[in-house]
Amino acid sequence: MPILAKPQNCTGCAACGNICPHDAIMMTQDNDGFIMPVINPGKCVECKLCEKACPIVNGKYLKNPEVKEAYAFWDNNTRTESSSGGAFSAIADWIRKRDGVVFGAAWHDSFQCCHIGIEEGKDFAMLRGSKYLQSDVRKTFAEAREKLKEGKYVLFTGTPCQIAGLRSFLIKSYEKLITIDIVCHGVPSNILFSNYIKKLKSEYPQYSSADGFEFRNLRGWGIAPTPKKGNCRMKPLTGVANLYMAAFDKGAIFRESCYDCQFNGLSRVGDITIADFWGIGAFGKPFKHDVSKGVSLVLVNSKSGREILENLKNCFIEKRELQEAVKRNHNLVASTDKPPYRNELIKSFNNPEITLRDINTRFNLKGTGMKDNVKDLLISTGVFWIVKSIVNKLRSI
Ligand SMILES: Cc1cc2nc3c(=O)[nH]c(=O)nc-3n(C[C@H](O)[C@H](O)[C@H](O)COP(=O)(O)OP(=O)(O)OC[C@H]3O[C@@H](n4cnc5c(N)ncnc54)[C@H](O)[C@@H]3O)c2cc1C
Ligand code: SF4
Ligand code: SF4
Ligand code: SF4
Repeated sequence: MPILAKPQNCTGCAACGNICPHDAIMMTQDNDGFIMPVINPGKCVECKLCEKACPIVNGKYLKNPEVKEAYAFWDNNTRTESSSGGAFSAIADWIRKRDGVVFGAAWHDSFQCCHIGIEEGKDFAMLRGSKYLQSDVRKTFAEAREKLKEGKYVLFTGTPCQIAGLRSFLIKSYEKLITIDIVCHGVPSNILFSNYIKKLKSEYPQYSSADGFEFRNLRGWGIAPTPKKGNCRMKPLTGVANLYMAAFDKGAIFRESCYDCQFNGLSRVGDITIADFWGIGAFGKPFKHDVSKGVSLVLVNSKSGREILENLKNCFIEKRELQEAVKRNHNLVASTDKPPYRNELIKSFNNPEITLRDINTRFNLKGTGMKDNVKDLLISTGVFWIVKSIVNKLRSI
């Protein structure tokens, strides 16, 4: 039988499932809801293609040379529709203009996240915005290979382990493939997220009709999870109702591989790396611009990545010190620490008998003191973002 990554190291990237020519690998969910491959011995012919494609078993060669410089970036067209500065949208637009295909994470069936490919000419807006859970790549690696074989440009975006999985699956390099990896804090499972939504809807009736979700405040630069009904945003989540994001921030509900991630560091797997440029201007060289609408951090890791950055139009791009980028973005160079209560917390989120309030009482994830309540009130009324924006404007004068 082929030897794949051990369950604690497996990232769920699905390179093995995409490559098996005998349909012998099923991507299933483990007891905690994380995507895992299972080999069907009845179908497997032991060709070992899956073993060769597994980036955990064989992926050392995938990393680009260590990056030396960082860029502050925003796209003037899409800055207010993206998570930070719209770096993804600017690069996706470059691909669209060349009739290429863009692959990324989208919402599917309301509260599930999976990768899809957006064909030439169509709007890729549904790929914008961070979804803070593991996107199921399904068979998109194989679909991307088909498009490359047709001679099309392909942009594939994802977590570093997904980009490593894609490149390992493809085996050879393609001139028209561009990859973007995001700096990655870690990923919870789709199942845990949908169990959280079930609890939210039953414990907070004002959200019972929600059929969508937005993690980021796209008007300003911040994280303000907000359920949606159709295209309308509901009241942003605060207090215990926002327990999923509190657990995400603490790194307490991630898949096991995230706590010893093989793909962080300054040698990246993507042609370009994007993230939030948290703390820009706070260390070293001042940054005299309005940051309230978000600033992306962009790292250029390969020759094709550099060519694209140099050809982007209508974008703000400023070279910054790499150390400034690392200072407030721990996950650029290191994994998240695993809290000792992680296993119990995941089981509690997945247990339909346990309420969000019970979870918070037991694990104390969300402060309920005066300071927390005031901040929550300011966020839910929108005042927080207005004040933040004014402070940022004053700072930039
Ligand atoms: C799970 C997760 C953890 C992250 N951790 C950090 C962090 O620690 N530090 C940091 O600075 N930034 C982190 N980010 C990245 C950050 O949230 C922004 O996505 C990034 O700054 C890009 O912003 P943008 O405005 O250019 O892109 P946007 O227009 O917002 O586009 C987002 C891009 O990310 C992709 N994407 C969205 N959700 C997922 C997902 N679940 N899986 C794979 N790809 C996805 C989309 O396909 C799209 O290409 C994380 C993102 C995710 C999804
Ligand atoms: S060894 Fe070959 S047939 Fe067996 S699971 Fe792997 S790829 Fe499929
Ligand atoms: S290829 Fe990806 S999903 Fe398959 S075993 Fe390796 S890490 Fe896990
Ligand atoms: S932290 Fe590492 S292993 Fe986890 S999703 Fe991100 S890139 Fe993959």
